[in-house]
Parts: sequence; structure tokens; C-alpha cells
Amino acid sequence: MSIDSGRAGGPVIEVSGLHKYFGDNEVLKGIDFHVDRGQVVCVIGPSGSGKSTLLRCVNQLEAATSGSILVEGIDVCDPETDLDEVRSRIGMVFQSFNLFPHMTVMRNLCIAQQRVRGRNKAQAVEVARANLAKVGLAGKEDAYPAHLSGGQQQRVAIARALSMDPDMMLFDEPTSALDPELVGDVLAVMKNLASEGMTMMVVTHEMGFAREVGDKLVFMDDGVIVEEGIPSEVLANPQHERTQAFLAKVL
Ligand code: ADP
Ligand code: MG
Repeated sequence: MSIDSGRAGGPVIEVSGLHKYFGDNEVLKGIDFHVDRGQVVCVIGPSGSGKSTLLRCVNQLEAATSGSILVEGIDVCDPETDLDEVRSRIGMVFQSFNLFPHMTVMRNLCIAQQRVRGRNKAQAVEVARANLAKVGLAGKEDAYPAHLSGGQQQRVAIARALSMDPDMMLFDEPTSALDPELVGDVLAVMKNLASEGMTMMVVTHEMGFAREVGDKLVFMDDGVIVEEGIPSEVLANPQHERTQAFLAKVL
């Protein structure tokens, strides 16, 4: 058994009894869920079922109403926790890319490395170049986001997250805003990342990706996890009526 840095063993993300209200609206109704190191967990479910809220609670972009969320053993709901430190271990990729439009690709990749990781410019540029190559965008250093396709922008966003050396990556519908012909390149980058052992939580409608790359598939509906299991099994043989109804619409 490995004891490196005290982080090995046990789940990377462990959510227990999570409830989240927006006003009177109970959006997460008691979620229990974990992601182990190196695992790829895909989350599916209808619009409004609470997938994004669950993801956002993990790094406390949304505060949980009750329950506990441990990230590498650290309770992110504890007011004493240094959230900036925990967040710096978590790479997040959104549907809408969220690049800085007035900065070149290189500047987008370097700014947080320099400000948060304390790297000097040369170090940051080296890490950025390696990650741009990894997402298939070597040579785009000086481009501005508006001059890239949506798929390229999303790959820049992934490279930017990776440049912070995260322990895990959270993806919220990373391909949902893309034209269909651009989806494959982004999924290929994510698949490659998974094969390198990155711990990943992926909200997606890409059932092919979930089946091929996911270790676990979680189906959410109306603020609860209705069903979870091995992706190929859940997709081929959903046990719950609500899962069956959802899959009948999307497959
Ligand atoms: P999903 O990602 O599965 O589509 P969300 O987590 O985005 O679902 O939303 C779940 C529910 O929470 C929806 O009813 C949505 O309207 C509500 N909700 C999400 N974010 C907020 C917010 N910031 N304020 C109020 N209600 C919200
Ligand atoms: Mg969402």
C-alpha cells in the first residue's frame, strides 16, 4: 500500500447526506456518492435534476445546506477549511469554456499558474506549452479565443485547468455547447486524460463516452441518485423506471 503524501487510499471525493436548498427549493435531497482515485465517474440525468449543483458543491462554488463533502479527506463544508487551497487541487471545465477573451491562449494558461502556483513566467510558459501539445493545440499560443473554434476553446480550457496540476478534474457538460463535428476532439482529450489515471467527475450527455471511458455511471433525477453502476450495465439494463424513461429518450 502506498503512503505517498498521506492522500493515497480512500475516496478522492466523498459526499454523504448532501442536501442543498435554493430558498425553499430543495435541489439536492440527500446525495451519497464517492469518487476513488483514478476513477472516471459520469453523471447523467434530465435538465434541472441537480447535476451542476452537485458538481459545484464539491468545490463549494455552491455552499451545501447540510451533509458532508470530503475532498481528499478535507471537509470543504467546515468554515475553517482553506477553500482556496482545496480548489487549487480541483480542475473545473464548464460548458461555456470561460476563457479570458482579451488574453491570448498562452496568457490564459499562464495567469493562474503565476498568481496561484507562484511560478515565474518561464516556468509557466513551459507547463503551458506541454499542456497545449497534450490537447493537440501546439502552435496556438498567440491566438485569441475568438479566433478559435468552440472545440479548440474547450481544449484550451482543459489545458488551462491541467496547467495547475490538479489532483482531479470536474467537467460540467464540456461538449454540450459544441457543434457536433467538434465534440469528438474534446472527448478524445478527456479519454486520454482518463487513460493517464486522472480522477474525473463528468456530467455529460455523451453516452458513448460514459460507456467507453466511465468506471461508474450515476443517474440523477429530481435531486436524488436514482441508480448507479457500471456504465455498460446501467445503459443496457437500467433497473429503475425513471432511468429507463430517461435513457429511452436520449439513446
Ligand atoms: P442540472 O445541472 O441537472 O440541469 P442544476 O443543478 O443546474 O441542474 O439545477 C437544479 C435546480 O436548481 C433547478 O431547478 C435550478 O433551477 C435550480 N438552481 C440552480 N442554480 C440555482 C441558483 N443559483 N439559484 C436558484 N436556483 C438554482
Ligand atoms: Mg447543469
